[in-house]
Amino acid sequence: MTKQGPPQAGNNLDPWYDHYSERAGGLRASEVRALFAVASRPEVVSLAGGMPFVSALPQDLVIDAMDRVMVQQSAVALQYGSGQGVPLLREQILEVMALEGIKANADDVVVTTGSQHALELVSKLFLDPGDVVLAEGPSYVTALVIFKSYQAEVEHVPMDEHGLIPQALREHIARLKAAGKTMKFLYTIPSFHNPAGVTLSWERRLEILEIARSNNILVLEDNPYGLLYFDHPAPDAMRSVEQEGVIYLGTFSKTLAPGFRVGWALAPHAIREKLVLANEAAVLSPSSFTQLVISQYLSTANWKEQINTFRGVYEERKNAMISALGENLPGMSWTNPNGGFYVWLTLPEQLDSKAMLPRAVKELVAYTPGTAFFADGEGKRNMRLSFCYPTPENIRVGVRRLATVIRGELDLLDTFAGTGMQSAADTTRRFGAPPPDIS
Ligand code: PMP
Repeated sequence: MTKQGPPQAGNNLDPWYDHYSERAGGLRASEVRALFAVASRPEVVSLAGGMPFVSALPQDLVIDAMDRVMVQQSAVALQYGSGQGVPLLREQILEVMALEGIKANADDVVVTTGSQHALELVSKLFLDPGDVVLAEGPSYVTALVIFKSYQAEVEHVPMDEHGLIPQALREHIARLKAAGKTMKFLYTIPSFHNPAGVTLSWERRLEILEIARSNNILVLEDNPYGLLYFDHPAPDAMRSVEQEGVIYLGTFSKTLAPGFRVGWALAPHAIREKLVLANEAAVLSPSSFTQLVISQYLSTANWKEQINTFRGVYEERKNAMISALGENLPGMSWTNPNGGFYVWLTLPEQLDSKAMLPRAVKELVAYTPGTAFFADGEGKRNMRLSFCYPTPENIRVGVRRLATVIRGELDLLDTFAGTGMQSAADTTRRFGAPPPDIS
């Protein structure tokens, strides 16, 4: 390749700046990314990450499954496979989904490289620039990054402790219709929401399906956490009562391990065909090796018991977080999830969680600022606290440190009340991709 002359209108660091697609403009690193690099130091208690606690998975179970695959099926495991996924694994996925009330045909399952990739493929199939995606406010940060990269507009619909509010959904749809907008799908995480920790009630699931049906809007049901409940199971999946209007996404990332990168989409038949084509265009086939390892694991290990073990681990950690919050931050509010990985905390008015983050990291605790979970700059008063990865003891230490930081901010505000000075400088509204361990 010949060497290029000085770029005409690039920037100093990237001579190809002018060549990027418009779509690539949606792919921006979040401004807190650099801070999270500091926060990954061992002395920092990170309540920011969404990493499953994979150490609770006995290694020999995985080694056993890998061994069997290599001894019995290596020619298949090391080869390209089907763009739709390994047939036996697709059958086994039906058993996993049956635990949440779903009856389906293996022919309608498409295995993807994590459910993240299913989100990408669905967006690729459906979104044109300017289309609207309805999503809970807040919503999963890396889904928002994808929607943005397809130049869609995200319309956040509020939630309360029972999940997405149907009446609010009706109002948003009516307003968008009146404005002539095209709404392609509703993206929802009904069970143990990331980041809000709340669960959509059964009545609301039915009501929201009805609203979507009558407005001709697809529902994209993203359910990575549904089986990780504490006291009692979440209501059955929305897909259990509606087949034609729902694309359902599942994953082995939280119930087994994210390193396999195996998730799936269950879609109405015509959409399924397009998904397979899009999957082939993107990756030819998902990894044969990891699919077969998971298939072996599901055939030979007591996987339901292993999910119970994960539940126990996360419930203990959730309890540690909720009681530490109660002891250290009286008068503040947070959600109390019945499953999943996350608590959503609301700060007193005037506090800005993003502006406060550098001070928190200095006090050796990290969290994810609420603004990361909105496409429109909302969420300043919120933060997501993850209890999935640190030990209960570290969670207690982290929450104590967080309380010190919050009290410090409140003291500063008291001291400077009426002077027009802010507790911390940066309150800009920007939004971008976090590092993968935050998602
Ligand atoms: N959806 C949600 C709501 C998530 O929280 C995550 C992971 N953090 C994903 C999708 C993607 O998970 P994976 O690609 O590992 O299946």
